[in-house]
Amino acid sequence: MADRYVYFFGAGETEGSRDMKDLLGGKGAGLAEMARIGVPVPPGFTITTQVCRLYLRGGRYPDGLREQVDAALARLERATGKQFGGGEAPLLVSVRSGAAFSMPGMMDTILNLGLNDRTAQALAQASGDPRFAFDSYRRFIQMYADVVLGVHADQFERLLEDAKQRRGVTLDTELSADDLRALVADFKALVKTRTGEDFPEEPQDQLWGAIHAVFGSWDTPRAKAYRRINNISDDLGTAVNICSMVFGNMGDDSGTGVAFTRDPSTGEPRLYGEFLVNAQGEDVVAGIRDPLHIDGMEQALPSSFHELVQAARLLEDHYRDAQDLEFTVEKGRLYLLQTRNAKRTGRAAVRMAVEMVDEGRITPEEAVLRVQPEQLDQLLHPMIDPGAHVQVLSTALPASPGAASGRVVFNPDEAAERGPHEPVILVRRETSPEDFHGMVVSQGILTCRGGMTSHAAVVARGMGKCCVAGAGDIVMDEARRTFSAAGVTVREGDWITLDGSTGRVILGKVPTVEPEPTPDFQRLMEWADGFRRLRVRTNADTPRDSEVARRFGAEGIGLCRTEHMFFEGDRIDAVREMILAETGAQRAIAVAKLLPMQRADFEGIFRAMDGLPVTIRLLDPPLHEFLPHGPAEIRDLARKLGQDPIRLREQVERHHEANPMLGHRGCRLGISFPDITWMQAQAIFEAAVNVQAEGVTVCPEIMIPLVATAEELARQRKIVDEVAAEVFFQCDAHVNYLVGTMIELPRAALTADRIAEHAQFFSFGTNDLTQTTFGLSRDDAGRFLPEYVASGILPDDPFQTLDVDGVGRLVETASRLGRGVVPDLKLGVCGEHGGDPRSVAFFHRVGLNYVSCSPYRVPVARLAAAHAALADRKTEPEAAPAVEREAEALAAD
Ligand code: PEP
Ligand code: MG
Repeated sequence: MADRYVYFFGAGETEGSRDMKDLLGGKGAGLAEMARIGVPVPPGFTITTQVCRLYLRGGRYPDGLREQVDAALARLERATGKQFGGGEAPLLVSVRSGAAFSMPGMMDTILNLGLNDRTAQALAQASGDPRFAFDSYRRFIQMYADVVLGVHADQFERLLEDAKQRRGVTLDTELSADDLRALVADFKALVKTRTGEDFPEEPQDQLWGAIHAVFGSWDTPRAKAYRRINNISDDLGTAVNICSMVFGNMGDDSGTGVAFTRDPSTGEPRLYGEFLVNAQGEDVVAGIRDPLHIDGMEQALPSSFHELVQAARLLEDHYRDAQDLEFTVEKGRLYLLQTRNAKRTGRAAVRMAVEMVDEGRITPEEAVLRVQPEQLDQLLHPMIDPGAHVQVLSTALPASPGAASGRVVFNPDEAAERGPHEPVILVRRETSPEDFHGMVVSQGILTCRGGMTSHAAVVARGMGKCCVAGAGDIVMDEARRTFSAAGVTVREGDWITLDGSTGRVILGKVPTVEPEPTPDFQRLMEWADGFRRLRVRTNADTPRDSEVARRFGAEGIGLCRTEHMFFEGDRIDAVREMILAETGAQRAIAVAKLLPMQRADFEGIFRAMDGLPVTIRLLDPPLHEFLPHGPAEIRDLARKLGQDPIRLREQVERHHEANPMLGHRGCRLGISFPDITWMQAQAIFEAAVNVQAEGVTVCPEIMIPLVATAEELARQRKIVDEVAAEVFFQCDAHVNYLVGTMIELPRAALTADRIAEHAQFFSFGTNDLTQTTFGLSRDDAGRFLPEYVASGILPDDPFQTLDVDGVGRLVETASRLGRGVVPDLKLGVCGEHGGDPRSVAFFHRVGLNYVSCSPYRVPVARLAAAHAALADRKTEPEAAPAVEREAEALAAD
């Protein structure tokens, strides 16, 4: 017998359920579940994702599918008392895609399928409203031609505009039934001209054409791009939902809308959404007409509104999570067309999760898992400085929070081109899925039309990007590449700032302030901390960064890059003097200038991190980064040092390297110039002794960078230990400290057992380890890496998300080798990957002690570490039933 490919829902005959998302897609499973629990849905059926996979793989439908679809259609005719393609009451259906994971706006939908000249006439008679029947018909032709036949919707819109102009009207609703009937004929003629074929009259042909298009839309570039960004597998496929049509455009007792059971921007627990009287679904989503706030529905359609409130409550109770609903009211009867877990901003996610724990709906563990670590980024992003003087051009809908400044671009291709190199703000009348590639790389998105549920708003919120939508008072002139508002003309390339939290569009580049974590956020983070095993430190080079990071929950400093301190004020002159010194005596003078400055820096950091470990890395970068560039800088330095500029230039040239990243850097500097190691160690220990005397608890961990051999570490460590002994002797004090190394070269990872003999800790420098493992320059990879990721050669940018197979294997190897020699060797990571949630999950699995990341990513890493620990709980075998455990025990014997 053929597999089962079709599942019916509604009319008391539902076959699927919420647990069948993989097979029925999110939408299909949601419709089935709603029908099962008594929420009113229009009956229909779902063709499974398995058919999509078979179809895309083999180029044909599986045997038995047609018969199953015919049987389901017959059932649907019985359930609705209507007939597909004929009769007095024609059955019309919608055809929608629906994958297991929601992909908003990515896949195509067709409404009113089943209309032809005959059924349109019958619909006109059955409804007593010919205008409605022909309006539905012309919409159907347009959608079908666009999605299935490849005739762009714009061309139909133009015909519609022409028809309105001929009639001298401005609104679609002002066209009569006869106007629309004539428009239908024009639309069909357009299809014939463009495709060379008649528009398909036969509803069966229409249906199979639509099914084909939905399956095909799984593989469109925009769908693929969305999946790539959201880590959704290409192999899942989409289901097709065929649902009997209900009409929101049957008069003033009808309407359609979208609603969230809680506010998706703030998390506030109240029904939130938009609604249009006498309209069909796509009018709301496309942002063509400005919808009413959902509260307005209470006046317009009070009984349906109360039913909606009830359904929302029921669904939220049932799913134990905020829902995103689509609904239609047909002549006073409410139907739910979709329910799914609502997408939400980071702020809303945190508030909803915490409040749902307080309401007794979910556990703290579930609350922690409800918030994705990446979402916290939005809470931690800077906001517009309230004290800043701003020139507001427009105030529109605060569609997605945060603040963003960038140069104006009007076209998504332009955004895609400029976005990777400079901040851009994409300004559009409204966005569509075709704009996605430009939206991804923009700092923010501004639209002139559409509401909080328009494409721009939904997609931006999903990406955590700042978005201001529906700025109707902005006048766009795309031809001139300008927009004007509040009497100001803004040109392409000009700076603007968006405030996605208040909806303000501001001229120029505006200063921002740091966000203050809310009490909800603090509670969620405390729960997360209770679950995680990994510690989270920060990469910080200044007392200020250290303080910020501590407020965000950092448990120490995992990397203080001492060279960053060398760029402050005129310190760089002393650094240059140190590097360019020709004799030991000259170098000693320069080093002596730097010592007090470094000591003061370390004192500040130790104070800020009182009681917490502070890992200080000795000088690491290639020397040329510090050297003067160009004749003017050389002349200037020569003057300051009282040296001959020509001779100084020769000195500078002598330090030139062909491959500085693989050259004289890291511990190689300390080996060549031991005075530098000496000076830095002295500054650290003197600072530690001084601050300890103030009552501060100091825990310095001194880290030797870019070690390739055990001998390098042994020699550098010897200096550090000697300095420590001398400082402690001089000051008659003692401070506990550790000396360890970075593992950032493959050789170090592979010989970690030998290196461990000299180390008290390892910190994986995964930036350099990625660079050296791939043989790929960190500074130049941007040229081609995006292409590698786009074309699937690499799954991710390995400088952002750890390459587990290669670099990860080195991390694992080094950890094992190191702990084989020193069982309690402290292991951490301080490359950029320390704040990347997927990489954090890997570091947890490998058994590192901590990750270290930039201050703003500390909460992200804390939550990611909690998720990783909770994932372990799920996979622990303790839940195995007794019988299985017995069987396992017997097998083991
Ligand atoms: C690293 O290489 O991962 C690291 C943290 O050091 P830096 O980025 O300073 O080279
Ligand atoms: Mg490094």
